[in-house]
Formats: sequence, structure tokens, C-alpha cells
Amino acid sequence: MSEQHQHVTKQQTTSLISSEEVGEKVDLKGLTLDDIVHFIKALGEKSFRGQQIFSWLYRPGISSFAQMSNLSQEFRSKLAEIAVISQLTLQAREESKDGSVKYAFVLSDGALIESVLIPDPDRHTLCVSSQVGCAMGCRFCLTGTIGFKRNLSAAEMVNQIHFVMEELYRQGKGRLNNLVFMGMGEPLANLDNLTSALDILLDPRGLNFSDRKVTVSTCGLVPKMAELGRRTSVNLAISLHAADDETRNRLMPVNATYPLAELLEACRQYPVPKRRRIMMEYVMIKDCNDSKAAARKLVKILHGIPCKINLLPFNECSALPYQCPSRSTIEAFQEILLQADYTVMIRESRGADISAACGQLASQSTP
Ligand code: SAH
Ligand code: SF4
Repeated sequence: MSEQHQHVTKQQTTSLISSEEVGEKVDLKGLTLDDIVHFIKALGEKSFRGQQIFSWLYRPGISSFAQMSNLSQEFRSKLAEIAVISQLTLQAREESKDGSVKYAFVLSDGALIESVLIPDPDRHTLCVSSQVGCAMGCRFCLTGTIGFKRNLSAAEMVNQIHFVMEELYRQGKGRLNNLVFMGMGEPLANLDNLTSALDILLDPRGLNFSDRKVTVSTCGLVPKMAELGRRTSVNLAISLHAADDETRNRLMPVNATYPLAELLEACRQYPVPKRRRIMMEYVMIKDCNDSKAAARKLVKILHGIPCKINLLPFNECSALPYQCPSRSTIEAFQEILLQADYTVMIRESRGADISAACGQLASQSTP
């Protein structure tokens, strides 16, 4: 532990906006371009003013209406009276030995959420949270054990990304390239706020991400998958984790409602854009879902689905009764899938020393 702590830096910051101020005013950060245009027109202003404001919100270093220099002084003061530009308050920032960074943010109601930056030589990925806790109760996931507290607003999702982009910008470390909604929570259980956040993230005047660089992961909320496909064109990841219902029922309560056959049919129906594939995630758990027979079943059930497979070695933690298989077991499992011509990666976990690895995000709310 002491060696790990040498690599940990903690930092406190204060929010520009207190929660009381946010209370009555409209938070422009969570509004899509259409929403802001609507809001501005209701104030009797021309719609292009809405476009101007929207693009200001996501420029580096902008945190107040006073900085929006192409708006009249009078209009800026009026906006400051009725609206706010929210930011997240950083509670702690921890850096792993492997370079990944975990951010804990405290929300206006005292709830805590976490985001994880995974820097690589060629790209920076941010793992984003969509809820405080999670209601899905997967047995192998620490987030699942804290239960569900509440959905995040679109602003709270966008602000995780904006905060980290601003930090990278100030440090001269370039841009965030990749977003994965694989932090705390089940994004498809918060679909309306998620799609508003995605609109802002993908808008060229907003945070300008390519839809190819944004991935939403779900444990398999089948009806919501179809809706996601209708409403966005981002990448889809499925937390599959088992090749038969008996095993999946044991690991994931959601399988009782949407069993494998329905989940796989929803994947077949999913409007996967050309040259893209669904990402199948499979947590490898010792003596549970790691046998060669399970790999062979997986080969069969995924047949015909345009997908690639990510094997996630289980991240052990003392609160959970599971273990990670040996490297040779994982590689033997991978080999069977490779032989069947699937693209299969073993995803090395990052940030385990700071509890930032997959399934380890479990900040508790402040008392
Ligand atoms: N709720 C969504 C988004 C969270 S993604 C979903 O489940 O897809 C987090 C990913 O990490 C999921 O694939 C999840 O199954 C996986 N995960 C959870 N606990 C884990 C653990 N202990 N070790 C490795 N992966 C884990
Ligand atoms: Fe929720 Fe995903 Fe964890 Fe399951 S794996 S409990 S759906 S966050």
C-alpha cells in the first residue's frame, strides 16, 4: 500500500457554482443545441444567439457568461440572472502507477461519482459514469453492491468529460479521443439523459466527438437497446459474461427478465453501422464461465452477429466471492474463439491499485 500511495495525488477544488445557486436557475450545460435555441427564443432573442451560447459553453476556459464576448453586456447580465454554467466539484484525484487517473466528483446533493482516464501513447480514453450506483445487482460488480441511488443528469455526464478535457488542455496533453460509458451505472436505464448528453458530445459545436469514438455499454436492457439504436449512432457494448442462461442467471439478475435468446436477437436486430461491430464483453471468472465448453458455446451463440469480443480478467476484490482464472485458462478460452475467426482481445485492467479498474467504482455518498 505505501508504495502505491507514493503515486497517489489528492487535490481539492471548489466549484464555481454552489448547489443553492443552481437550484432556481436553468443549467445550460445539460441542454442540447435545440434546447438552448428554444430557451433563447422564449426570452425573445434570435435563435442564432442560442447557437452562439451553445458553442461558447464548450470552448476551453469558459466558465461564465461574462466571457461570451459576442453577446451584448446587457444580454450577458440577463443570462447570469436566470441561468448557470455548471461544473463538477472535484473531491479527489488519484493517479495509478500505470498512468490512469481516477476522479471522484461530489455532486450538488452530496452524492459521489467516479470517472477514469486511461491515457495511452496514441489516445486518451475516459470511462464515464451514468448513474450514482446501479440497480442491476450483477454479483461480480462492486458498483452493483452499493445499490441504486439516482440517475445522473445530462449535465452531470457531460461535465465529467468537460472537466477532464479542460484538465488535459491546461496540461498541454492534447484531447480526449475516446469515451466509454462503462463507469458507475447502467446507461440504458437512464436513456433520456444519456441521449441528451450524447447529442451535446457529438455536436460539432458542442464537444465534437465522432460517434465512432463513443461506446455505450449495457448489461442487456433489451427494449432500451432498440431505442438507443433509433436515437444514436454510437458504438454498443454488451456485458455478456456467460454463454448459457443458467450461468448468466447466477451472475446477472437482469437475465431473468431478458434471457440470452432475447438479448442476442436484439443484437441481431441492432442497426450496426457499416464496418462497425458490437463489442461483446466477457468477464472471465474462475470455475464459473471460463471453461473450454463455455468458449465453444460462445462460438455458437454469437454466430452471425457482427461482433468482436473483449475478455476482461475478473478484477478481484475482498468484498466479492470470485477469483480471476489463470492466464493460461484465459488464453485457452481466447484460442477457441480465435480459431472460430472471432476478433478477441484480452483487455488488461488499468488502475487496479487505485480501485479504478472495471467494476471497482463504488464511491459512497458523503454522510
Ligand atoms: N452497466 C453497464 C456499464 C458498466 S460497464 C454494463 O454493465 O455494461 C463496466 C464493465 O465492467 C461491464 O462489462 C462489467 O460487467 C464489467 N465488470 C464489472 N465488474 C467487474 C470486475 N470485478 N472485473 C472485471 N470487469 C467487471
Ligand atoms: Fe450495474 Fe454494469 Fe455493474 Fe451490472 S456490471 S451492476 S449493470 S454497473
